[in-house]
Amino acid sequence: MLQRIIILTRIATSLSIVQKGYPMVLNGSVALITGAGNGIGQAVARHLASKGVHLVLVDRVEADAQKTAESVSPMGIKALAIGADVTSEADTARFIEAGLKAFGKLNMAIACAGVIRDGLMLSPDKATGKIGKKLGLDKWQQVIDVNLTGTFLTLRDAAEAMANGGWPGLLVTISSVNKVGQVGQLNYSSSKAACALMPKIMVGEFHMRGIRNIRAVGIAPGYTATPMLTGMNQDALASILKDVHLGRLIEPTEIASLIEHCAVNEAINATTLEITGGLCYAGAIAK
Ligand code: NAP
Repeated sequence: MLQRIIILTRIATSLSIVQKGYPMVLNGSVALITGAGNGIGQAVARHLASKGVHLVLVDRVEADAQKTAESVSPMGIKALAIGADVTSEADTARFIEAGLKAFGKLNMAIACAGVIRDGLMLSPDKATGKIGKKLGLDKWQQVIDVNLTGTFLTLRDAAEAMANGGWPGLLVTISSVNKVGQVGQLNYSSSKAACALMPKIMVGEFHMRGIRNIRAVGIAPGYTATPMLTGMNQDALASILKDVHLGRLIEPTEIASLIEHCAVNEAINATTLEITGGLCYAGAIAK
């Protein structure tokens, strides 16, 4: 009898934990966004601001972060603009601390800072047939440093603050549809494959260690209308668009609204979601 009571009490306790959860109320919450001065980061900032979210806006160029802060100030929220390099551990600690000092809590960390440095690993010289060019270590390292190490540092330190603070928390990695392997993007695709995996690993570790208040999701956009695409070969881009069912580039605002949905829907956790407009191409994907 006593054993049955203990079992029933345990079930009731675990059910109450499951039912309670850590719902995210957007109005009045605080989001940290890196790469917030341009493109997707800027669109996410504006979208969340329109829902009453206060913002810590980080970009390499402080004036860019400031420009985004100025554009959201009429929305009645507070925005702090910080110039920082996401590849630097000291800079990361500085912007997390500045955000906590300004707002007293942190609910979302969205790692949008990213770079692209495309090139083939090996390019044979047409005349000799011998390898004339290799993907430089500089191009490899820049992409890995910003897209992978930058995401790791930002989300690690944001998660530390959220775990210690006990607030409802969401970590967001920005992957890419090219996480599956795109030719010419050995560096970029490698970094984005890792960003797609991170949420599952992070949440698995939170689960092991009893950290219940933090979720993590990855967003894997398809080709999106941002300044990053101006650096791409425009003929290649036009050819890729032929394989997008939607027939156009994704808008950064569409990614922002998916991130809002992830913030308020607690069931989305430990996974990476694609948002591509229906990218159906097969030609250039590494097999
Ligand atoms: P974007 O318009 O170029 O914006 C990226 C921002 O990150 C820029 O403001 C950039 O500053 C900043 N940044 C770069 N390195 C940084 C560093 N070390 N520290 C701090 N900030 C840094 O690019 P986007 O298209 O919005 O891309 C955002 C994310 O989405 C990236 O991770 C990208 O890989 C991913 N993504 C984009 C697409 C797409 O089609 N656009 C598709 C899939 C995934 P500077 O301009 O001064 O360098």
